[in-house]
Amino acid sequence: MIADDDALSRKVLEDSLLDWGYDVLVTRNGEEAWEALSQPNHPNLIILDWMMPGYDGVDICRMLRRRQGSRYTYVILLTSRDSRKDLVMGLESGVDDYITKPFDPEELKYRLRIGERIVALEERILRMARTDYLTGLLNRRAFMERLEGERNRSIRDGKNLSIVMADIDFFKRVNDLYGHQNGDLVLQEFAKCLREACRQYDFVGRYGGEEFIIGLPGTGLEESKLLAERIRKIIEAHQIKTPDHNTFIQVTSSFGAASIASQSQASYDDLIKSADRALYQAKKDGRNRVAWEATLT
Ligand code: GH3
Ligand code: MG
Ligand code: MG
Repeated sequence: MIADDDALSRKVLEDSLLDWGYDVLVTRNGEEAWEALSQPNHPNLIILDWMMPGYDGVDICRMLRRRQGSRYTYVILLTSRDSRKDLVMGLESGVDDYITKPFDPEELKYRLRIGERIVALEERILRMARTDYLTGLLNRRAFMERLEGERNRSIRDGKNLSIVMADIDFFKRVNDLYGHQNGDLVLQEFAKCLREACRQYDFVGRYGGEEFIIGLPGTGLEESKLLAERIRKIIEAHQIKTPDHNTFIQVTSSFGAASIASQSQASYDDLIKSADRALYQAKKDGRNRVAWEATLT
């Protein structure tokens, strides 16, 4: 994205960027730039002119850095100011790089490449930090963050939110009988079954070793119980082929469903505790079954 109030300068920048293969979003002043940066999935490699009416480039950068929780945005400040004092002020606002006008196109081209590398690295690290390595599902922390967000959304939208906790039965035996590597394979297959059984807007995480959890936005208890029962049957019928092709492993699993009403005072943490208790009950009642608690109201 570029933000520049000067039409000629905008045109030169845009043409160069298009030439280098970028998709370019052009904004003409600070307000337009901030509006664009306030959208979800906004551009994360931006060139800001310093001097613009309204918010200037340094203002935008300060606002960006103050904002929490959005994707990292690499900022190149473009300016005709070139005194040392200005440089320090520009950097102090949190810009990543700084280029003086008139700019050398080749230099800008390679400085943008640096920006791309930083942004790609940042996204890769974030993805890794959120993903469970073995199964590719959300890890526990990422799941909990998402659940907290969904709880806030369910309050706003007046909708229920449910979760289903799943735990493989006697999984220790799988490791003991078939080895840890085949145990890992079972976990991967289990995760795949969960993902395939869910709707697109559901989210699935690995909660612990052989414990999984599904978040179901806009879903009540009855529907969650049905989903859990459907998955239970799929797992029970699923034969997992081991790499040596001579054995099939079969497992069963137990489920705890819990639901929270939009207007409830309870938190997402209470929802987790409720599902946990239901799961414990399913285990106690003999495993390979679904248990639940009444909707938190
Ligand atoms: P229950 O029916 O009561 O749930 O019995 P269980 O044996 O499934 O439960 P328990 O919690 O006693 O054992 C869980 C086992 O899961 C123990 C641990 O070695 C194994 N496990 C945890 N994480 C992994 C993993 O990443 N890979 C493998 N192969 N095993 C794991
Ligand atoms: Mg278990
Ligand atoms: Mg367990």
